[in-house]
Amino acid sequence: MNSPADIEATAFTLASNPVRAILERSLEEREISKAEGQVLFEATAPSDLDAIYQTADILKRRVHGDQVTFTVNRNINFTNICYMGCKFCNFAKRSDEDGAEWQSVEQVLKRCHEAWARGATEVCIQGGLHPKLPGSYYEELCRAIKAELPDMHLHAFSPFEVWYGASKSRKPYREFLEGLKEAGLGTMPGTAAEILDTEIRKQLTKDKLNTETWVEIVRTAHEVGIKTTSTIMYGHIDGPQHWAAHIDLLRSIQKDTGGFTEFVPLSFQHVGTALYTENPDKVRLGPSIDEIDKMHAVSRIMLNGFIDNIQVSWTKLGPSHAMAMLSRGASDLGGTLMEESISRSAGADHGQEITAYELVQIVRASGRTAARRSSDYRILEVFDDHDPVRLDPLIDRNGADPLDFLSMFPDVSGKLEAAE
Ligand code: SF4
Repeated sequence: MNSPADIEATAFTLASNPVRAILERSLEEREISKAEGQVLFEATAPSDLDAIYQTADILKRRVHGDQVTFTVNRNINFTNICYMGCKFCNFAKRSDEDGAEWQSVEQVLKRCHEAWARGATEVCIQGGLHPKLPGSYYEELCRAIKAELPDMHLHAFSPFEVWYGASKSRKPYREFLEGLKEAGLGTMPGTAAEILDTEIRKQLTKDKLNTETWVEIVRTAHEVGIKTTSTIMYGHIDGPQHWAAHIDLLRSIQKDTGGFTEFVPLSFQHVGTALYTENPDKVRLGPSIDEIDKMHAVSRIMLNGFIDNIQVSWTKLGPSHAMAMLSRGASDLGGTLMEESISRSAGADHGQEITAYELVQIVRASGRTAARRSSDYRILEVFDDHDPVRLDPLIDRNGADPLDFLSMFPDVSGKLEAAE
């Protein structure tokens, strides 16, 4: 529970009455309603924002203390060929377009082996909805990886891919998901959620995977024992009422199933998307800095007691900005990735890999303790008195000295120089 010092630290006395009342309730570990979440998202006064951020930080510390988790993993996008036409996406290509890619099972396996050799405990596999992909592909891929790397955790296939694979296989979602689990699937990314609101989804995705179907697939996955992450993609044609309703819906699923491992806010990247180029007056360029701060903080407050892990995406925000979210309620930095073509294609500026060594230096320089975790958030190694093995990045950083990356962080590079 909060100490008097905590309360004082939140500068509640300066916050407006409605915001202060909501935050006091959250510090008493009481549930914040959808309407109250919207009030927090709509707050703009600096004193209200300070109180929201400090409350999120207190709630985060109650669960995690100063520990910041990450996982050593690799993202593998086995194809970018997709005809679904989601308007926020510029990852997808037609099969005859330049840059269209397809990785065979053997190529995917090679990447999995590289990842394993570098200490990865997870591969995160997603792909476009290739028109020629047989529904059996998803299961076959799981079996092939598990046959060679039985201890590698498979975190794979969005609810959109499950919808696609089940439709192509002419199987109910439950049967399709049970087949994937039996083939070795461990957990699923809760992507393709975007904003779980019918009117918004009609404009983003033509509602091909509607809210009800996303929820049905995720609930079914949880019921058959496949946990998932949960996400939001925000900062386009959406607003505070959608954000609060989205998080409220995720929370209601979590109350029933307990199947979400984490919540990950994903900033909309407008560059090159049909959504933006067709409607530049209506569509925003992504969330503002304040909105990013509030998304991490308010999700921590609304999900307190239900989803413990709020993950910040360093690929969307860049490592420096991601670190700032650790004082806004975020507790997890995601994975090392070793590849991240979806964010790159969709206009994010930030790279394809951050090594475990780099992550630990950055976390430590912020005065926190880094811990490597499993996909289901078991702590595997705490880096309080040692470092991970210092590896060169696997992914080319455009010819730059691989370890120059840390020079982006003056606190870190100064300490390293002093130590060397
Ligand atoms: S978001 Fe996914 S399903 Fe939609 S067009 Fe892009 S790759 Fe295809």
